[in-house]
Amino acid sequence: MVNCFYSPSYNCIYILAAIAQGNIYNSSMSDEELYAKLGMMIGHEISHAFDRSGAQYDKDGNLTSWWTEEDYSEFQERNAKLEAYFNAIQPWEGQNIQGSIVTGEACADMAGMKAALRAVADKEDFDYDVFFRAYANLWLTKDSLQREYSLLNNKHPMNYLRINVVLQQFDEFLDFYGIREGDGMYLSPEDRVLIW
Ligand SMILES: [Zn+2]
Repeated sequence: MVNCFYSPSYNCIYILAAIAQGNIYNSSMSDEELYAKLGMMIGHEISHAFDRSGAQYDKDGNLTSWWTEEDYSEFQERNAKLEAYFNAIQPWEGQNIQGSIVTGEACADMAGMKAALRAVADKEDFDYDVFFRAYANLWLTKDSLQREYSLLNNKHPMNYLRINVVLQQFDEFLDFYGIREGDGMYLSPEDRVLIW
């Protein structure tokens, strides 16, 4: 099975071997591709421990509240902002994304990207163009319109959003490509919806 996931009751991530083949991992990949694909994916899974659902379980897998009140209310506010951002997106005219069902996966994608960017920050001669393109390639897909419609009810954001919404949160991306206010991918720091 090509998949990976997080189990809140075991507080454990599972990366099934079959996912580490071909496009997500292969032995000829450059560092840039490894961090953008398998690296980002590992960060994604770990961060599920701290998404809206995983956050309700403690380190021993018990469903219990372990947060300070202040942290948890800030966390909920950030999730509400992320949800509202997705609610406003229309893949087709008159059809909005349901923010409430995608926040967990959107939060994990962004955390995974942030972890990958942190991990490569000190690397010399790191090629960000190769890195960002490899990340986009991770979600490259060709679908029928019917299947794309059905993805509106999926907890994962649609693939083009997993690329665009994630990348526009990061200065590393905006600065590297010279994206400025007025450009389609630009998102001002106060409008960003990164949770972690
Ligand atoms: Zn996930």
